[in-house]
Amino acid sequence: MNLQDVGEFGLIKRIRKRMAALNSAVIQGIGDDVAVVKTANKTLLITTDILIEGVHFDRSWIDPWRLGKKALAVNLSDIAAMGGTPKYFLISLGLPEDLSLSFISSFYRGLKKEARRYDVDLLGGDTSLAQKIIINICLLGEGKKKGLLFRKGARIGDDLFVTGTLGDAALGLRILQKKGWMRGAKGLIERQLSPTPRIQLGQAIAKRRLATAMIDVSDGLLIDTTHLLEESGVGARIWEECIPLSRLYQKWIHFYSKDLCQMALCGGEDYELLFTAPSEKRKKIADLAHSLNVPISRIGEILPSKEGIYVTKTDGENYIPSRLGFEHFK
Ligand code: ADP
Ligand code: MG
Repeated sequence: MNLQDVGEFGLIKRIRKRMAALNSAVIQGIGDDVAVVKTANKTLLITTDILIEGVHFDRSWIDPWRLGKKALAVNLSDIAAMGGTPKYFLISLGLPEDLSLSFISSFYRGLKKEARRYDVDLLGGDTSLAQKIIINICLLGEGKKKGLLFRKGARIGDDLFVTGTLGDAALGLRILQKKGWMRGAKGLIERQLSPTPRIQLGQAIAKRRLATAMIDVSDGLLIDTTHLLEESGVGARIWEECIPLSRLYQKWIHFYSKDLCQMALCGGEDYELLFTAPSEKRKKIADLAHSLNVPISRIGEILPSKEGIYVTKTDGENYIPSRLGFEHFK
């Protein structure tokens, strides 16, 4: 057997089984957006993400400033998904020897811009020679134990909500890769290159106890929903017609796909928040969306686990998607 057989998530399951945390201070180890550890008077959040040239980005389509911003943003999104507050980070870089100093300086300017915006401090890191650029950030944050939202916690009968719009970042990437007509599609490309972590919204959802479980949509709506369902031990139905699509997405998708919704269902990197909530919270969720000026759409319902995950089309037909989203090694 090799990695192709088990895929990224099969591998993580195996690691998780063999490496269970033993320390009683660990509230959440492998299996959520961040790890959660109890300290003397705080709850510590820890998360890490890697970006590799040729896998996650290409120097021909992302500039170093945006790369620096994005490297931190994808980590911030995981803290947002818990409703936590980001605080400090470490960055480790693998760099080829012919990389210009101006590239690195621009990268750090982007990183600093994002760090200042979310009030997080760089504390250190590591630097090494590599064939391609490798960026790994480890971000620490804080939360209140009772105010955090995990992937587990969804209950049968809950509504399923998602913030913002879906598919924009994946469509932006497709346009960049195909070197398509870019004028007019800039908004989609920006969603790919400069994602916005939903820190404030995540904190508000957690603080007001509006949700039972939450995850960020980094690999694709369906696959990230599946992660939340697995941790919660439930199933779900998603209504295709309720998937929030931006005006730009609807304008441009036809040039790249025959299927209106497929990229919104399976495309990654939108960094929106996906959460579950009992129906009595609908009004409060709508009020929050209004006050923060972010759309929050009710896209599905939580079902017993035996139902698995399926999508209901506009004509009422149900289908089980064969591909759920992005997975390394598959
Ligand atoms: P996310 O997309 O939110 O970053 P991942 O799917 O990457 O989450 O990871 C899921 C869980 O598996 C997380 O708890 C993460 O820390 C853990 N994980 C990922 N890769 C490894 C690894 N190589 N060893 C141990 N744990 C891992
Ligand atoms: Mg995540």
